[in-house]
Amino acid sequence: MQGSPEERRDDGEDGTAGWENEERESLMMELSRMVQKVVKESSWWERRGVDCSILGAAFLSLPPAFLLLSCSQLPCFSLGMLLMGVAHAVITVKGTHLASHGALSDSKVLRKVCAVFFIEVCGSFSAHAGVNGHVKLHHAHTNIIGLGDSSIWKVPALPRTVYLFLAPLAVPVITPLVALAHQDGCSLVWRLRTVLMVALGLASQYWLLVNVSGFRSVHGALLCMLVCRAMFSVPFIHVNIFQHIGLPMFSMKKRPKRIDQMTLGVLNLPRNFLLDWTFGHSLISCHVEHHLFPFLSDNMCLKVKPVVSSYLNEKKLPYQEDTYLSRLHLFYHKYQELMVFAPPITELVGVQ
Ligand SMILES: [Zn+2]
Repeated sequence: MQGSPEERRDDGEDGTAGWENEERESLMMELSRMVQKVVKESSWWERRGVDCSILGAAFLSLPPAFLLLSCSQLPCFSLGMLLMGVAHAVITVKGTHLASHGALSDSKVLRKVCAVFFIEVCGSFSAHAGVNGHVKLHHAHTNIIGLGDSSIWKVPALPRTVYLFLAPLAVPVITPLVALAHQDGCSLVWRLRTVLMVALGLASQYWLLVNVSGFRSVHGALLCMLVCRAMFSVPFIHVNIFQHIGLPMFSMKKRPKRIDQMTLGVLNLPRNFLLDWTFGHSLISCHVEHHLFPFLSDNMCLKVKPVVSSYLNEKKLPYQEDTYLSRLHLFYHKYQELMVFAPPITELVGVQ
C-alpha cells in the first residue's frame, strides 16, 4: 500500500519509516479480517440481541422500582432506589455509549432514533455533542494531545479527594448544563429538540415519582432523582480517566499508526459483575477491543477479546490491563502528575 505524499517525504533515505508504516497497517488489516470473520459467523442475538435484551430488562425494572419507592418501609424503599439507580446506569451509560456508536441496530434511522432517545431523553445530554465528542474526537484521536487526550475529564482546581469521590456526585446536575452550553454548530431546530428531549426525560421521571411513587414534596422527588442518577457517578468518572490518562500520549504532528495508538493508549480493567452489566464490556474489560473496533456491541467485544488479545500477544504488541484498585491507588498518589500537570508526549521512536 502506498503512503500519502507527506508520509513518503517523511521517510528516511533508506525508506525505513515507509516500510514500518506499511507493516503496522498490515497488522491492523490482518487483525480486522480476523475480527470481521468472527462477526460474520455470529448470529443477530450475539451481535445485537444480548445487549438490546439487557437494556430492555433495565426498562422493565422501572415499573417495579417506581412502585417500591411508594413503600413506607425502609428495606422496600431502599430496594426501589437501588433498582432505579442500577436501571438508570444501564440505560444512561451502557445505552448512551452503544447508541452513540450506532451499535444497537443495523438500520440507519433506528440508530438516529436510539441516539436521540438514549443520549437526550435518558442521558440529559445533546446527541450531537455526545457523538461529536465521543466518537469523532475521543475515538478518532485517542490520546492525541489537544484532541482526544481525555483532558475534558481534568479539573485541576479540585483537590484529589474531592475530584475522585465527591465531585462526581454532581454529574447529574452538570450534564444537562454542559449539554446546553455545547450547542455550537447546531441549528435552532436541533437546539430546541435537545432542550425538549432533555426536559421530557427529567419531567417524566419527576411526574412518575409524584404520581406513581407518591412523593409529596418537590424536594423529596428531586433528591430521589439525584440519588438514583448519581449512584454510579463515582465509578463512571473513575473508569473514564483510568483507561487513558497516564498512558502514552501522542503529538498531533507525529501520530502513530492506529494499531499502536490504540494498544499503547488504551487499558482494560478486569471483569466486574456490576460494571459489566451497568457500563458494558466495551467500557470495562474490552476497552482495547472497543477502541480498535468501535462499531461492535458490548457482547461482540467480549466475543472477539480472545482473538484480539492473543493476536496482540503473538505480535509482541502491548495489551494493557490493570485492576480498578491499582488504578485508583495510582491516580490518588500521582494526582498532581496525572490530572493537574500537562501529560508528557511519548515519541513512538523505537516502539516495535
Ligand atoms: Zn466508545
